[in-house]
Amino acid sequence: MPKTWQTKLIHSDAKIPQGYRSLATPVYRGSTTVFPSASAVNDSWDQVRVGYTYGLYGTPTTLELAARICELESGEQTVLTPGGQAAISLIDFALLQACDHMLVPASVYAPNRKLTTDLLSRFGIQTTFYDPAIGSGISALIRKNTRLIWTESPGSITMEVQDVPAIAAAAHERGVSVVLDNTWSAGVLFDAFAHGVDITTQAVTKYIGGHSDVLLGSVTVRDEAIYQRLGAARQVMGYGVSPDDCSLALRGLQTLAVRLAAIEVSALSIATWLAQRPEVERVLHPALASCPGHEIWKRDFLGSSGVFSIVLKRETTHRQVLDFVNALKLFKVGWSWAGVTSLAVAYNIGHAADRPAYEHRIVRLNIGLESTSDLIADLDQALVSLRAE
Ligand SMILES: *Cc1c(COP(=O)(O)O)cnc(C)c1O
Repeated sequence: MPKTWQTKLIHSDAKIPQGYRSLATPVYRGSTTVFPSASAVNDSWDQVRVGYTYGLYGTPTTLELAARICELESGEQTVLTPGGQAAISLIDFALLQACDHMLVPASVYAPNRKLTTDLLSRFGIQTTFYDPAIGSGISALIRKNTRLIWTESPGSITMEVQDVPAIAAAAHERGVSVVLDNTWSAGVLFDAFAHGVDITTQAVTKYIGGHSDVLLGSVTVRDEAIYQRLGAARQVMGYGVSPDDCSLALRGLQTLAVRLAAIEVSALSIATWLAQRPEVERVLHPALASCPGHEIWKRDFLGSSGVFSIVLKRETTHRQVLDFVNALKLFKVGWSWAGVTSLAVAYNIGHAADRPAYEHRIVRLNIGLESTSDLIADLDQALVSLRAE
């Protein structure tokens, strides 16, 4: 059939040579993927098993990122989500139903807490928040209908390192699954499965992305039944990911080791320097003895990353904490972390009975790739201005 030029725009016979071998993973975009015949059409999400059916369930680019995160975390299967918080919600919606009960550490990432209190509660799912230092004492909180125990180690902002193996042992005795938000460790500085975790998740947005320009999340499992529930829920919730974003994350993986190594050294020097300062009451860095759970960090982790918090002295007013953050010049103010730019955010955790008494005096720092001496000089001038007030 001869074609008009308009049809050639859509159905081309143009030829290009085969066999191009770039070191980079190609970006395969696509919603429709073409079936070989009418009878071959199907809508399975499990493309790892059945081949390509629809772009929402993955393209070669997104499936490669999933497979590579899975390999790094020593899992069996990894599913990707549009962000770290989407990974958290996927886990809960895939594994819980009305009248189920879940245990969540009081130190959990704030949007994870909000998901349980503001949304899952409306679907009849009950949550108890527990002391992150509970360890094997978690047994006493497990009910007949407890299905899931969340862990996050170290916790967000207040940085408590949890005894994940003790929690997992207690959970498994009662047939309960354990989830870990392993974002701080980038999925590599803490071996989740070796420490008894059943489901591990991370915000790929953070260290794997590494450059503050991507939003992605991952969930990695070893159990086939859990994978089936996650995949089925992901399909109906419509959690697709962009191949362009995944290609940035694949690039991020290539430099993850050197970024983490440089950031670890810099963050440790800065944390140690801050611990000597008269304006600082406490440094919450897992590699320092002043951090709750430091001994557990020493026992279980392979290293530390670049996010930690400081608690300013008791007499510091809320206004002074904000002034300190505003006085910083290299540290920028903004959500998220693990990029190359250092960040500072002041938190007011109030007077809740289940939270440490740090109130308005916490500043969470993300150490980027600027020179350590410049970052220390920046913190120094901001702390001096605080004293002058
Ligand atoms: C940032 C973060 C998330 C959420 O990641 P997004 O990609 O921003 O949705 C989840 N857990 C922890 C511990 C985080 O720090």
